[in-house]
Amino acid sequence: MPQKRFAVAGAGFSGAVVARELALHTDRKIIVFDERDHVAGNCHTARDESTGVMLHCYGSHIFHTDRDDVWHYVNSFVPFRPYFHRVMAHTARGAFSLPINLLTINQFFGKSFSPEQAAAFIESLGDKSITDAHNFEEQALRFVGRDLYENFFYGYTKKHWGCEPRELPASVLKRLPVRFNYNDCYYDSAWNGIPETGYTELVRRILDHPQIEVRLNEKFSPEQCGEFEHVFFTGPIDAFFNFKHGRLNYRTVTFDRIEAKGDFQGNSVVNYTEFKVPHTRIHEFKHYMRWEKHERTVAYREFSKATAAGDIPYYPVRRPPDKALLEKYYDLAWPLASVSFVGRLATYRYLDMDGVIAEALDFAADFLKSYASKSKTLPRFTPALAEQIRQHRV
Ligand code: UDP
Repeated sequence: MPQKRFAVAGAGFSGAVVARELALHTDRKIIVFDERDHVAGNCHTARDESTGVMLHCYGSHIFHTDRDDVWHYVNSFVPFRPYFHRVMAHTARGAFSLPINLLTINQFFGKSFSPEQAAAFIESLGDKSITDAHNFEEQALRFVGRDLYENFFYGYTKKHWGCEPRELPASVLKRLPVRFNYNDCYYDSAWNGIPETGYTELVRRILDHPQIEVRLNEKFSPEQCGEFEHVFFTGPIDAFFNFKHGRLNYRTVTFDRIEAKGDFQGNSVVNYTEFKVPHTRIHEFKHYMRWEKHERTVAYREFSKATAAGDIPYYPVRRPPDKALLEKYYDLAWPLASVSFVGRLATYRYLDMDGVIAEALDFAADFLKSYASKSKTLPRFTPALAEQIRQHRV
């Protein structure tokens, strides 16, 4: 008979939020496992010993959301300071503001268009022979034309994803808007900010509950499932099944550290859109916390590559063979009555932090409802994803 305790595999946002909801609404003990020596997963932040700058150890993380409940949730643990993310793109034709907005358009084409004129101009550049864009490249050519596509998207995307943009789904480009006003913020969300104490402290506080025990440097093994009443798995779904059907493809990133005096690049993120420049972007972390003063600065040059065994998975590639493989893993997961799969890695999706938290809260609410009513079948996925999988299986 399994003990009356829950296991949560992974101490990133998904695992932490689910663990806290379980602690608040049940009397069970919750053991949270993480193989790394810190909580917060890839959102981990730490003070740099040499400069005092708060590093985003796995690359920039900027909190932005339209959901009031998610914003209030994170702010209830640590205060957030306003931060509006602006990105510069270094292209073959000079430095421009990204995402493409009225300033980018006017500067790139040497014009002084009004919003209406710019919209009409960009419309005239779009490839009208593409009526239904099936991939990233078609989506870009259809909406912004070849010149902007080649200067802003082609090289960056090929470096970041390691393939031709026409092999990627159109949805990847849909993350980047084109604006016909001078709003140069990278995100157009209702709430934008950076936690004053860093993300790791935020996650630590989410996990700070007498019923929660966090075990760092301890990897959860699926063989331990029998020791728990229910397991909430937030690691890679293919790893849970010991890669039985093969590995899902991820891109991973590596960083070169730069330390300098003063200000290295004048912005938190500068993208390098030319294919011949090997890195995709440079992050300079002191710009995220302008309320702090540091004489020296740390920047990370980011390089992208395919994930090999042992690398940290970042971006799910989600090309058709991956999606087919994912369905096979869902088939293995579906009948498991006492394991739930939550979050970016366990569901192999490209999710932002706020989406991860929103899903974890939604999942936990659904789970706790079934658990309280002693339902025979407990949710293994969020309601929306469960419905999607169900439809695919019929
Ligand atoms: N992208 C691009 N040029 C850029 C920035 C982004 O072509 O200068 C493309 C690229 O394919 C990237 C996608 O837009 O993967 C989404 O960008 P986003 O900034 O959302 O990526 P993230 O910050 O999640 O790495």
